[in-house]
Amino acid sequence: MKPQDLMRPEILAMSAYAVPHAAGMVKLDAMENPYSLPPALRRELAERLAGVELNRYPEPNPARLRQLITKKMCVPAGMEILLGNGSDDLIQILTLALSRPGAALMYPSPTFVMYSMNAAFTGMRAIAVPLRDDFSLDGDAFIARMRAERPALVFLAYPNNPTGVLYPREEVLRIIAAAPGIVVLDEAYHVFAGETFMQELPRFANLLVLRTVSKLGLAGIRLGYLAGRPEWIEQLNKVRQVYNINVLTEAAAFFVLERLELLEAQAAEIRVERERLGAALAALPAVTVFPSRANFFLVRVEDAERTFDALSRQGVLVRKLHPGLAQCLRITVGTPEENRILLKALKEAL
Ligand SMILES: *Cc1c(COP(=O)(O)O)cnc(C)c1O
Repeated sequence: MKPQDLMRPEILAMSAYAVPHAAGMVKLDAMENPYSLPPALRRELAERLAGVELNRYPEPNPARLRQLITKKMCVPAGMEILLGNGSDDLIQILTLALSRPGAALMYPSPTFVMYSMNAAFTGMRAIAVPLRDDFSLDGDAFIARMRAERPALVFLAYPNNPTGVLYPREEVLRIIAAAPGIVVLDEAYHVFAGETFMQELPRFANLLVLRTVSKLGLAGIRLGYLAGRPEWIEQLNKVRQVYNINVLTEAAAFFVLERLELLEAQAAEIRVERERLGAALAALPAVTVFPSRANFFLVRVEDAERTFDALSRQGVLVRKLHPGLAQCLRITVGTPEENRILLKALKEAL
């Protein structure tokens, strides 16, 4: 007996989400915040975690963490949130709940791969609507396609990964208003973009806002949240694995998010560094840099494979992208020192 005899063909046809080894590398591949917590705070956190009862099951839908997030992240009154084991978990919950037979999931392309992967997991029809050559969104084309395909679920990454583009607010509003189903604004990079649709939630019955603390500086604890009207959250909550937020995540998230201003100050530094790095990259010959509102840059080089290998040999890890993005690499904004090493390595690599 072989997997081929039993498993679903769409699973057999997939490749697993690849995460390369990064030990000892300048790690600029995963949009992580390069700064850690100050030592004194780390000790305080350790003490807090030492008090957690690992022998007990977690609280299934931790109320005090939800309240803290609601307050700190300015979730509008009357809206509720659903917590996830990273926003990847919430993307899966959404697709599981909405995958009626024949239902479609639509997104501009290229974008975050988890949308299409989860469409495949749940048997939804994945409909990728191409972005323009400069990765801007053609709102009319997207709306025309929605009219034809009637998607139950639309994902808009705002700003988009891996392009860094923040779609014009008016285009997004038009799409929400015209959508026949749910529109999820995936705001994984909201601290870097300084724009959000959170305050629009009361205005649109079909809008949900997806966030994560990963890019903010807590990628390791795996925590995401989905904000929206109680009637949506109530149904989606049934699909959630009962204990999807473990006790350590709950305790660590509560401790750090109480001090959110610390992470916000780090994000502000990263935004300043983004401008510096963007200008330095643009000054390199044979590199095209796409403007970014996130904490990374999409760059086009003559030979992405060769550049990637040369950077790796010099100890710098960036992200290679799928063939749809010809000769492009995605580079996370690091600390000033990391960015200096990157630029030096890149000059030699080109
Ligand atoms: C990184 C990223 C996520 C995943 O976030 P996790 O909470 O770490 O699972 C979701 N959406 C987009 C667009 C991302 O770039």
